[in-house]
Amino acid sequence: MDIHTSIVKRPERTFKESFTVFMIDTGSCGACNLEVKSLTNPIYDMHRLGIFFTSTPRHADALLVVGVLSEKMKDPLRRAYEAMPDPKLVIAVGACALSGGILGSGIREMLDADVLVPGCPPSPFTILDALIRSRDGQK
Ligand code: SF4
Repeated sequence: MDIHTSIVKRPERTFKESFTVFMIDTGSCGACNLEVKSLTNPIYDMHRLGIFFTSTPRHADALLVVGVLSEKMKDPLRRAYEAMPDPKLVIAVGACALSGGILGSGIREMLDADVLVPGCPPSPFTILDALIRSRDGQK
């Protein structure tokens, strides 16, 4: 796997032009978190692409997860996923969310992630690319 490329497992186009993301941190070191948050700064400026964060899963098209799957966050993760309307995607960002890294288990133990973004942490460009391709439904 090229570490600069995300994998989008759902190839069809599901969403319209705008794409709303709810981020949840299930146990990160903080670095993946920072890289995701940097997407709103003027360098990456994801808003110009119609991609936005929301503070509630009820308005989200995608659940973006960073960090290992810690015991205390299993229930909040499940509740966030269940609160989202269909159609919805799960995007796992970073080695911890993908596999648990060296610490534990990743979120795929609980949820079937549609988009995998490798890296520790992934670059913001890789994350942005994954969000665009998630919205557009490309492999
Ligand atoms: S993948 Fe790396 S940067 Fe991201 S939360 Fe895990 S240890 Fe931190």
